[in-house]
Amino acid sequence: MAGQKRKIDNLPLELVKTVFEILILENHFTKDLFIKVKKELLNFLNVNYFSEESKFSEMFVKLEIFDVVCKECYLVMNIDVFLDVTGEGFYKC
Ligand SMILES: [Zn+2]
Repeated sequence: MAGQKRKIDNLPLELVKTVFEILILENHFTKDLFIKVKKELLNFLNVNYFSEESKFSEMFVKLEIFDVVCKECYLVMNIDVFLDVTGEGFYKC
């Protein structure tokens, strides 16, 4: 799906999914808290947390965060939020 343009029907839902995709990079949140808050926001939008609709998928835009510092080795890098998220959920360099 990378590079393909997809239609965005529900902007609040896209906002929630995108914000959580960014927040997952920050490891100050426990996974339980992350899931609980995301579930509540999705519930507010009448979207089931376990539905396909709730899952983040790549968009055609690039969202880059500049000068991200790794807390373990202090390596500084730019991260494309839509490409660099690991399956583990939290960012690791
Ligand atoms: Zn590192």
